[in-house]
Parts: sequence; C-alpha cells; structure tokens
Amino acid sequence: MEPTILQRSDHCISRKNISKNALTVLYRLNEAGFKGYLAGGCVRDLMLGKQPKDFDVVTDATPNEIKRCFRNCRLIGRRFRLAHVMFRDEIIEVATFRAPTSGPLIPEDSEEGDEEESTEITENVRRDVIINEDGVVIRDNEYGTPEEDAFRRDFTVNALFYDIADFSIIDYIGGLEDLKRRVIHCIGDPDVRYQEDPVRMIRAVRFAASLDLQIEENTYQAILRQKEQMFHASHARMYEEILKFFYSGSMESSFTKWVETGLLDMMFPGFADWYRNQASPSEKQWHAQALQQLDKWKSHGIKASQELAYALFLTPYIRAVRDELITANETISPRNACMEAVQQIQHVLAARVLIPKRIAFRIFDLVSSQDRFQDRHNQQRIVRFLHRSYFRDALVLFKFDALATGNPQTDLIKIWTEDLKQAPPPSPSQRRERPHKPRRRRRRRPPQARN
Ligand code: ATP
Ligand code: MG
Repeated sequence: MEPTILQRSDHCISRKNISKNALTVLYRLNEAGFKGYLAGGCVRDLMLGKQPKDFDVVTDATPNEIKRCFRNCRLIGRRFRLAHVMFRDEIIEVATFRAPTSGPLIPEDSEEGDEEESTEITENVRRDVIINEDGVVIRDNEYGTPEEDAFRRDFTVNALFYDIADFSIIDYIGGLEDLKRRVIHCIGDPDVRYQEDPVRMIRAVRFAASLDLQIEENTYQAILRQKEQMFHASHARMYEEILKFFYSGSMESSFTKWVETGLLDMMFPGFADWYRNQASPSEKQWHAQALQQLDKWKSHGIKASQELAYALFLTPYIRAVRDELITANETISPRNACMEAVQQIQHVLAARVLIPKRIAFRIFDLVSSQDRFQDRHNQQRIVRFLHRSYFRDALVLFKFDALATGNPQTDLIKIWTEDLKQAPPPSPSQRRERPHKPRRRRRRRPPQARN
C-alpha cells in the first residue's frame, strides 16, 4: 500500500525540537545505508506541538547491524531484541521494523540479552530464530517492512514515521487524518487488539485525556465490551501504566473516564466499590482535589515519588478501611489498623495492580505518620521523625490534607518546615533506613491431637 507522505514544507516538525542524540542515531543509520525513522509517540507529540518524553527510532538494520554502527550500544530483550544507544543523559531505543508475527509490541521486562552476537544475519534473511538445546524458542525475531511495523502499533496516531532522509512524515494508516480530526482510533479490529493486549484500553483513555482527543466510537465501544479482559493484563505492567496516568497532567479527566467506562472497577476492585457506594461527598471531594494536585505538580514540572502519587490516590480509601477496622475491633491501635488496611488493599489490588511491597510500606509510612505532625512535645520523637527518609513526602501529604480538609494547620506546617530546614542532613545509616516492616504475628500452633 502506498503511504501518504507529508513533505517537510507541509508539516511543523522541526529538528530543533528533536533530541540531539536521536538525530545523531538517525543520521548515523542513514549514513550506513539504513532507514532511520522516528516512530511512535514522539512523532505524534511533535505533530501536536508538544515536547515528547522520549524518542524512539526504527530502522531496517538488524540488531547486530545497529550494534556495529554504534560503540555505545547494548542489545536488550531476549524474545525480541532491541538496541539501546547510550548517551550521557539519554538512552535512545532503536528497534528493527517488526513483522506481524514477531511477538507482542510491548516493552519486554527489560531482560538483557547477551552482549555478544550469537547469530549472523545476512542482508536477505529477515528472520532471526534461536532454539536452545531443549528445543525451546528463545528468540524469534521476524523483521518486517515499515508498513507491517506501522500496522502492529496500537493507534493510528501512534503509527506515524518521521524519515530523517528527507524530513518527511510517512503515514500508512490514516494517523495524519485522525490527528487532524483529533481522534484516537484503534488499528485493526479493536475487540481483537484489546484481547491481544488489554493494556491498550487504558492507553486509549490516557492518550484521549492527556492529548485532549476523542476516542473514536468503535474504539470506545470495544472498551466497554472488552474491559473484563483487563484481568489478564500483567499486574506489574498495570502498576507502571497507572503511574503514567499519575504523571500525565490529566489525572482528573482520566479518572472521570475510568469511572465512565467501568475501567476503574477492573483496575481498582475494592476501591471502585467504596468510591461508588460508600464514599461521602467530602471524601470524594478530597479525592478530586488530590487528582488536581497531581495535575498541578505536572504543570509545574514537579514529579512526585511513586509512593506519594499512589498515597494521594488511595488515602481516603485507606482511612475508610482503617476506620472500619477500628470500629470492628476497638483494641486495635490506629497504627496497626492502618497497616492492616494497607495490606488488605494491596492484597485485593494485587489481582490487578501489583503495588511492589517496598512502595506499599512507604504508602503506609506516609498515611500512618500523619498523626505525628500533631506531636510537638517529645524532642527526640521530633528529631527521629525529621530524619525518616519519607519525612518530606509525609509533610507534603500533611500540607495537602490541611488544604483539602479546610483545616489550615498554618502554625504546625510552619514549625515543621522550619525544623526541616534546620535539620542536619541524615547520616548514611539513616539514609539507608529500611521501610518499616510489620511485625509478624505469631500463629498459635494448633494443639497436638492426643492419641
Ligand atoms: P508516551 O507519551 O506515553 O511515551 P507512546 O505512544 O510513546 O506514549 P510508548 O509506551 O512509549 O508510548 O510506546 C511507543 C510506541 O510503541 C507507541 O507509540 C506505539 O506505536 C507502540 N506501542 C506501545 N505499546 C503498544 C501496545 N501495547 N500495542 C501496540 N503498540 C504499542
Ligand atoms: Mg514514548
């Protein structure tokens, strides 16, 4: 199929807005006789006049050929090999055009491949298969044409190429038209594409919210039909995808879409139920302000830690579960109830979103330490708290909470902020401080059966 080609004079992408390192990679590939294209989100963002987060390159050079072009290059990924060209402050990912059958087009959990070349690939061989002694396929790279590569991508606006040879945009699928109409349009049959990789559904929502695009009707309706498939998405990948929302600057509008599509119920079981049926208007208000806060940070170029972002999202829910536990068991301390609440939530979410243990402990630290801001009597406790590695985040949450609940706490915030300024830097051992671990409750052994 003949692609639509937009010449340099007909589009807005200037090399001034492309990373120097990406340009170096593109030119080097081109000089070595290979195609050098920018692909994916960076072309889409540049066309929309936005600064891309990163620049991905695709080429017809095989991984080993790419490696020969660059000294600063590592091959990664076992099932599908990619090249990482390393610069001081940036890594440019270079992939060979993929054929339709060469495995999922999702970043593999960056397993590193062998650094040494293990197959020679001649110009004409477009397949790079390695089968180990047990007959297991450990690599199956089938390289494709630019057109095939474009069709493997998720949405039409993500399938544009920028060709360094003549600075033109190459469009095989109608991405340019969709950009103009401002729609997110799934490539191929959306039901099939979501079944192949359910994460595509939340990607559609993220792009629509963060780029202010409409989801095309069929692409949208298929989300409603296929949302149950989210259950099959990798839980670790879901954790990362949700972080992308928190850092997208459009969390507030995304959340509305999560609720509207029912994806919220698929991603956050337990939370969704609480949000729909139990959360009070003031809790919902707190939550909405938390989402606005995440978006505000993004607009000021501030990136919250992962635990703070998740804590902001989950705090009203954690508190609700904690309070329920306290009502059910009056002897439980608020701190233990909070730990129990975080663990319960983490456990329920684990079927969908795998919050790493380290982050879950930190979320607990942030939420459970909020009471400590009220305690200004014991100097030793104050100093110990100031030296906790999570103190700054806890203070941010305290300030936010004060604002959101309309209880300004101005004096306390001032004192703690002053203390923080004057606190000596933490010692190396304090810096290495490990997150709090819950004490294991000893299980009583069942009494031995008597003979
Ligand atoms: P972002 O701004 O979040 O980086 P992006 O579009 O660049 O957006 P990436 O995850 O960096 O997203 O992926 C780069 C490109 O790889 C995408 O633009 C798309 O073409 C392709 N891609 C990524 N994930 C998928 C997927 N699940 N299915 C098909 N293609 C995908
Ligand atoms: Mg990207």
